[in-house]
Amino acid sequence: MGVGRAGEHRRGLAALCGAERRQCLGQVAQREGGVLPAAETVAGLIEQHRPAVLLFASSYAGRDLVSNLSARLDCGAITDVGDFQLKDDSVEATIPALGASYQNISTLVRPGTKLLVVRPKSFEPKLNEQPVNVEEVAAASAEGLRKVQMKDRVVVKREGPSLEGAKIVISGGRGLKGEEQFAILKELADVLGGAVGASRAAVDAGWVPYAMQIGQTGKTVKPDVYFAIGISGAVQHLSGMKTSKYIVTINKDPEAPIFQYSDFGIVGDLFKVVPQLIEEIKKRKGL
Ligand SMILES: Cc1cc2nc3c(=O)[nH]c(=O)nc-3n(C[C@H](O)[C@H](O)[C@H](O)COP(=O)(O)OP(=O)(O)OC[C@H]3O[C@@H](n4cnc5c(N)ncnc54)[C@H](O)[C@@H]3O)c2cc1C
Repeated sequence: MGVGRAGEHRRGLAALCGAERRQCLGQVAQREGGVLPAAETVAGLIEQHRPAVLLFASSYAGRDLVSNLSARLDCGAITDVGDFQLKDDSVEATIPALGASYQNISTLVRPGTKLLVVRPKSFEPKLNEQPVNVEEVAAASAEGLRKVQMKDRVVVKREGPSLEGAKIVISGGRGLKGEEQFAILKELADVLGGAVGASRAAVDAGWVPYAMQIGQTGKTVKPDVYFAIGISGAVQHLSGMKTSKYIVTINKDPEAPIFQYSDFGIVGDLFKVVPQLIEEIKKRKGL
């Protein structure tokens, strides 16, 4: 069973993720009313269906909802889950630590529904060929649940594909040396149809916004191709991109740790290599 907002494309998404049945909350549940109406509604669905496990995205909304549900239902929750196994009445969850160099195991043993907050890209989507049965569920709307009101909504302008969904991610680090130089990564991303990311060093320096940060305290991505450009490969960065299908590194230091994780590496000055790469791709694409 999947729980989410209504919409035709979301029905398709549910089928893609292997769901057989999907329940939709009214738009108001999460968008406008904060966590309380959503928690009330999902708590009701849990009482009704008593699922063994409920999975949540590791997003602000997902974490907010799970902490509320965990307290309300007095049931355990595990965050940052990379994998899990159902064992009789318990759930054993694997939590990758230190850039997935270690795997911690946490077990929830109390009876009842277990809540797991799953790291992005932890599982490959599994296609369900059968039509998905969508059931609309009205969002709880009691007055007492309206303690939190949305005052304003700020939309962050985004160009190109989102980092989380991009098949190609071009990330830059301290080696870029400044904000303006990120323009060459944007140009590379444009010719390849990819999205631009960054290391924390570049974010902390104020060159790019936090929304572009990849790593332990940023986003986790799993594209087909990840370009690490002027990035050394600290364990905290690796934890956000190590599972990419192919990793391509451009770094002037042949000893940079990121090379150990790369499928393809170029030792050289990024300010020489990247423009040449862009030219060659343009030529081959006839741009
Ligand atoms: C609790 C905690 C959480 C963290 N979370 C994150 C996180 O989410 N994401 C993250 O990225 N980091 C995170 N960090 C920081 C992390 O430890 C590193 O400091 C950071 O990733 C380094 O970024 P960098 O690789 O861009 O910089 P550096 O380590 O300074 O590497 C720069 C690289 O650029 C290369 N270079 C320089 N000039 C050129 C050139 N002209 N051409 C080619 N290559 C060049 C250098 O050889 C070097 O390898 C975290 C740290 C802590 C303690």
